[in-house]
Amino acid sequence: MLLRLGRCGVANKLLTRVARSAYSTRIPFHRETVKVSIGGSGHVDLEIQARISDTESRPSVLLQLPAGSRLEAPADPQEAPPDNARLRNLHSAIITIHYRLSSPLPLTATAALDHRFPMPVHDVHTSFAYLTSTILPGLFPYALEEPRIDVAGSSIGGALATTLALTEPNALNSVTITDALVDWCMLDEHAGIVEEAPPGNYLRGQRKKAPPSVDPEAIQTAARALIAARTRLFPTPSSFFDPFASPMLFLRAPGRDTPRTHAEALGLVTSSQEAEPEPHDTIAYGPYNDDHDPTRVPSIDSLADSMSNMTLQQQQNRRRRKVIRRWPPIGVPEDVMLPRFQIFSRPPRNDTDGHGWLLHKQATDLADYLRRACFCGREKGFAEDRGFTDIHIFEASSRLTTLGVGINVQPSAVLILRNLGLLPTLLSTGIQTKELNFYDRHGNPILSEPRGLSAGYTIPQFSIHRGELQQLLRSAVEDRLGKDTIHLNHAFTSYTQDANSVTAHFTQRSTGELATDHPSITGDILIAADGINSHARKLHYPTEGPPRFSGRILWRGCIELPNPYLTGASMIWDGHANQKFIAYPISARSASEGKSLVNWIAELRVRDESDPDLTPPPPADWTRSVPKETFQEPFRKWRCGGLRMMEDLIEPTGKVYEFPMCDRDPVERWSFGRMTLLGDAAHAMYPIGSNGASQAILDAECLAACLVEHTSGAGDVDVEAALTTYQTRRLPPTAAIVMANRGNGPDQVLQLAHERAPEGFDDIYSVVPKDELEAVGSVYKKIAGFEMEKVNARAAETVGEERRWFGADKANGEVDGHANGQVEGRARHVNGTPA
Ligand SMILES: Cc1cc2nc3c(=O)[nH]c(=O)nc-3n(C[C@H](O)[C@H](O)[C@H](O)COP(=O)(O)OP(=O)(O)OC[C@H]3O[C@@H](n4cnc5c(N)ncnc54)[C@H](O)[C@@H]3O)c2cc1C
Repeated sequence: MLLRLGRCGVANKLLTRVARSAYSTRIPFHRETVKVSIGGSGHVDLEIQARISDTESRPSVLLQLPAGSRLEAPADPQEAPPDNARLRNLHSAIITIHYRLSSPLPLTATAALDHRFPMPVHDVHTSFAYLTSTILPGLFPYALEEPRIDVAGSSIGGALATTLALTEPNALNSVTITDALVDWCMLDEHAGIVEEAPPGNYLRGQRKKAPPSVDPEAIQTAARALIAARTRLFPTPSSFFDPFASPMLFLRAPGRDTPRTHAEALGLVTSSQEAEPEPHDTIAYGPYNDDHDPTRVPSIDSLADSMSNMTLQQQQNRRRRKVIRRWPPIGVPEDVMLPRFQIFSRPPRNDTDGHGWLLHKQATDLADYLRRACFCGREKGFAEDRGFTDIHIFEASSRLTTLGVGINVQPSAVLILRNLGLLPTLLSTGIQTKELNFYDRHGNPILSEPRGLSAGYTIPQFSIHRGELQQLLRSAVEDRLGKDTIHLNHAFTSYTQDANSVTAHFTQRSTGELATDHPSITGDILIAADGINSHARKLHYPTEGPPRFSGRILWRGCIELPNPYLTGASMIWDGHANQKFIAYPISARSASEGKSLVNWIAELRVRDESDPDLTPPPPADWTRSVPKETFQEPFRKWRCGGLRMMEDLIEPTGKVYEFPMCDRDPVERWSFGRMTLLGDAAHAMYPIGSNGASQAILDAECLAACLVEHTSGAGDVDVEAALTTYQTRRLPPTAAIVMANRGNGPDQVLQLAHERAPEGFDDIYSVVPKDELEAVGSVYKKIAGFEMEKVNARAAETVGEERRWFGADKANGEVDGHANGQVEGRARHVNGTPA
């Protein structure tokens, strides 16, 4: 996979042709230097050392990128000694790319000036393309698998190795970099030339890890020395603001606009002065180097003098947030995976080692941004590394039973399940909803609304058996977090907290005695998802009382029909607010047998609308089975969508369950220090518009994102801030849904038709205009957060995110690369800690 191939710009046919046969002679040890032509501008030497056998096993290749021109003599990394250890293995090679800036000449030499950026980038990428297309197949002609390529580099070579890893990710197994200069733009902040740009949204609120203490003046001096080197290495600022030269910029924005000239970059002229662009050589050494001799590096003193004339204020208008950039970028195929990264840097040697401090900062920043920006890779990235793995789930019931009824989940929530890698199981279990058909009580069609993929969403809407959904979530939890994560027979009773932790207490519901596994447990966060009768909520709202009864009761059942009805994936919504019937199929297994497992709900008003009593009727146990006689009669003659409600659905159903339709008034607060509410505990709503569970899933995703956002680079989580952010983001929209559902939500189309034509109609649009009908659904989608554009955009942004759950097994290669004598052994995950 090659991103931005055009940047490398040299077609293979222009390359020096190396006869394949030269490599097919099987000699145990092979040493050769190959010249690779780079366009018309010169060539690069590839130094090859290899041990070759005629086995079919997978070859192993180490690609070395030398440190390059010395940027500052005393603190520069030592060139790593050749990694001969690898050559003890047959079928392996070490290949050094001597890109044309790789000789350790001082930067003052004219030779270095002739090899300025982007030349080193072209050299490395062109050589790599030639290597993989021509040289390696010739070296290992019998290998059945493509060689495993590890790349190592330091200083400028380290930056080039990083660029290679981020633009040719799937071609590499690992990358090891030492003291790499991956961000040329940050130097100005440390040289006192521009004020440090604020972090992007994603990084705000993080506590910064204290950098090793080094004299600020030493840092400034070192930064200015590197800036002087920069003016020699890059003809214009746009060439070091290019991610190919400063690969950190693949992961985040630079924090300011790209200056047009070096003088402007240093604040010596402002962009408003509209300075006439100068020829490259003059610009590079211009205003602070009087004689314009390109072989002379401007002295640090002259640079400092020039800089003292500008003010930080001058730069303010060019400051931008250092917004994080997603990697891989949107639109890149899903199978792109980040190679394993090892990042090494020495901490500063003493309190005057400004150069060491700058390189160390670049290393820790790179590790941090790789963790945050990379959505998929063999290193997985993101939240898993954040220590949120010691998770326990406590359930009051002593066994998990599966109610034989269904649930419908909106695309916005299915997207989250997709990103958790659960879509394949959902596809093989549930039914992708195709349409939602509304009828009046006489069976006259009101509106047929396409749903999920049929409506143009890129993510399906699902109807699924509750028990099966619960089971697939439970399996995922047990697979990923461990079998002993879920603790049954633990009823939450109370909690205490202090500045550092929260402790929850549990009893056994049946006996009231202390729970056996965990009578209490102490942790960082307590999330109360204990439903509409939440005990945690009651602790904070003791006078709230029982849920608020709508005056209507729902009876639910499930029955397998011998044939599918309508499309086999249609939902039926029939009637009006006081008498309603809903039916939809929920089982892929049943559909595969040509049948249809149909979930149905019959709803009736049982208490007068004017009755001020809002307490729900007994029994408290809403999951008990009830006789059908209590509700079936009013539905005897109802028919729609090819179904007879009484004969086809109610009568043949075995068990029927009763639910008083209740909700709760929105509250002002869900989060209390380290405890927060989630799902029905936070925002119980009428079961209208297939939303309660969908919103609980959205809550969970939001909460997880808030925890990641409020985690510092050092891994410390500001729990209270995270829970407050979660509340700020989720409370207002869910409160709006609670209120919208009291106004019938999307079912308002039924109510409109019923109120305007209670005895039926011939033409629905003469009763309710088309626009008015369709507006009900679109307004509700907006309130409930599942507008198509929004869901599809988010789906595109997060393509491939589910791969993090499947990438771990691919992360096991050996790396025996050598960098500064410090790396040996197994590759580790992205490593911000210097070795
Ligand atoms: C008839 C009906 C139809 C619905 N249809 C849909 C639909 O199609 N789509 C949709 O998205 N939503 C639907 N909903 C809403 C949906 O079921 C709920 O919004 C969703 O189940 C809420 O999930 P939750 O985890 O917050 O709470 P619950 O599902 O209620 O789970 C709470 C859990 O906490 C446990 N618990 C309770 N107290 C304690 C305690 N003290 N200690 C430990 N554990 C405790 C309970 O045993 C339970 O397992 C419907 C609801 C009803 C009533």
